[in-house]
Amino acid sequence: MKKLAIIGGGIIGLTLANYIDLTKYSVTVYDNPVGQATKASAGIISPWLSKRRNKKWYQLAKDGAAFYPKLVQDFSLSNNVYQQTGTLILRKDGELDALMQLAEERKQHAPEIGDIQLLTREQVVEKLPLLKAQSALFITGGGKLDGASYLETLRQRAQENMIVLKTGTAMLSQRHDQWLVQIANATEQFDAVALCTGPGLPSLLASIDFKTDIRAQKGQLLAFETPFKDSGSWPVAMLDGESDLIPFEKGKILVGATHENDGGFDLTPTKEAFSLLQQKTVPFLAESTFFEKYQSTYRVGTRAYTSDFAPFFNFLPNNPTAVIASGLGSSGLTTGPYIGFLLAKYFNEGKNDWEYYQKPIEHYLSTL
Ligand SMILES: Cc1cc2nc3c(=O)[nH]c(=O)nc-3n(C[C@H](O)[C@H](O)[C@H](O)COP(=O)(O)OP(=O)(O)OC[C@H]3O[C@@H](n4cnc5c(N)ncnc54)[C@H](O)[C@@H]3O)c2cc1C
Repeated sequence: MKKLAIIGGGIIGLTLANYIDLTKYSVTVYDNPVGQATKASAGIISPWLSKRRNKKWYQLAKDGAAFYPKLVQDFSLSNNVYQQTGTLILRKDGELDALMQLAEERKQHAPEIGDIQLLTREQVVEKLPLLKAQSALFITGGGKLDGASYLETLRQRAQENMIVLKTGTAMLSQRHDQWLVQIANATEQFDAVALCTGPGLPSLLASIDFKTDIRAQKGQLLAFETPFKDSGSWPVAMLDGESDLIPFEKGKILVGATHENDGGFDLTPTKEAFSLLQQKTVPFLAESTFFEKYQSTYRVGTRAYTSDFAPFFNFLPNNPTAVIASGLGSSGLTTGPYIGFLLAKYFNEGKNDWEYYQKPIEHYLSTL
């Protein structure tokens, strides 16, 4: 039996841990969840009509979204964790026909988009009563994931399967062909490691002499407590102007999120973020006083991004016993589980089916 350490217990690390063949590996997951993106995230799984032009990213995001039904089945995810309630996409009236056409084109290679409908103003309000009357495109395939609940489900599952979970900031070093992982004063030796540490990857890799093209981006969103009991079944609304509404169970409505490239690892909630989200969201809402009327709390997290905003996941150059994965940016809930699955397949079967989705690893990594 080989020993595998997974450093980073976000969506990649815990999905990977739960897909590992435990007849071949004993697994330990190390995590220090401060500022973790998965826990702070908004939850939208609906990549098909993104304006991004990066084709490799689109393939990954499309396949990541298509992977969700398997994920739900494999891990018995409840409706509180993941629900496919569809996505409303709001645009100016003149732009909706073109969007509809794009959706029809994309559906040819992504049937998981589901049904595509142009909704009237009245139909939109019926689907999501928080919105004021306006037309929108509706796709039934869109879903929402509660990142924190997903991780909780996977942590429980991991523990039931004797996967060891350790809390703390891990340090990494190498001795001969073994990896040494240290938290506090305890060091353990492993045959293989998976580094899934989001924006924490550069400091971990610096200790083994690699420079990594990863930066930290601050993201803030607002979680509103409202009295709407049936909010769990409402669709996500992607508003025209980079703000989104994500309704969850028991009246919890998320509004977000900011993309602060200069925010780094700062986790301080700011009034500026509140004002920005208010300004971008209120024009679409039925109640113009929504932001004042309902109580909200901030969620702040740190995303990892690369200079071309594309993720990477691969083994280290010339070292097949260490895999790395980071740079998932603002679509990591969509791509993360599938990346975790592909990494597990690499450990379980020795197969790396991932070149198609990304540039060569050397693009993001160099030796110090
Ligand atoms: C506000 C916000 C909204 C978002 N909304 C969406 C959305 O709607 N849809 C979508 O698809 N994506 C969304 N995302 C993006 C998504 O959340 C991330 O891309 C994804 O969760 C990244 O997963 P990860 O596993 O790579 O990293 P993370 O979730 O950040 O997990 C990495 C973990 O590793 C830990 N770590 C780092 N270094 C060490 C170390 N040395 N030792 C131990 N542990 C360490 C970190 O603390 C962290 O817990 C959002 C992100 C944010 C911040």
